[in-house]
Amino acid sequence: MNSPINYCPQCSEPVRQAIPAGDDRLRHVCDACGAIHYQNPKVIAGCIPVFGEQVLLCRRAIEPRLGLWTLPAGFMELGETLAEAARREAWEEAQVEVDLGPLFTLFSLPHISQVYAFFHGRMAEPRFAAGEESLDVRLFHEHEIPWEELAFETVRRTLQLYFSERRAGICGIHVEDLAPDRHGPIG
Ligand code: ZN
Repeated sequence: MNSPINYCPQCSEPVRQAIPAGDDRLRHVCDACGAIHYQNPKVIAGCIPVFGEQVLLCRRAIEPRLGLWTLPAGFMELGETLAEAARREAWEEAQVEVDLGPLFTLFSLPHISQVYAFFHGRMAEPRFAAGEESLDVRLFHEHEIPWEELAFETVRRTLQLYFSERRAGICGIHVEDLAPDRHGPIG
């Protein structure tokens, strides 16, 4: 979801919405300095940290979805690769070192202009702790997963696909679109 821009980040004058010449969409345009401020989707990178048969989940200490469980994931920073972002988020939220495997799920959420990517992840040892944004971090067997208390549809769908593939002994990559009623924004 793009936030409204009221003042030009370059010259601080008020901006207005207009369709620039040669374009076909409304943009924030600054008449004072001529800048056009484009807004584009945000990318969220995460992973499924696995130790043996168990999956590591974090209980969110921040809104939105405070108190609900999630896979470690967050917004990419400038200058990072997708894999670096996923590894960094696992460290920040769960203080866990993850060996990333292949990309597993990729979701488009056009209603909030976000793209989610989750990698497979391996934990060499069960060392983890709650980071700043987590109330608790725990390893779960499949039958212990708190399905009714998951923070995001992308997480629910990723876990569902993960366990179903593990039972079937296969390993695929899943590219899906999620509709508005199935997912809210991540903070
Ligand atoms: Zn300006």
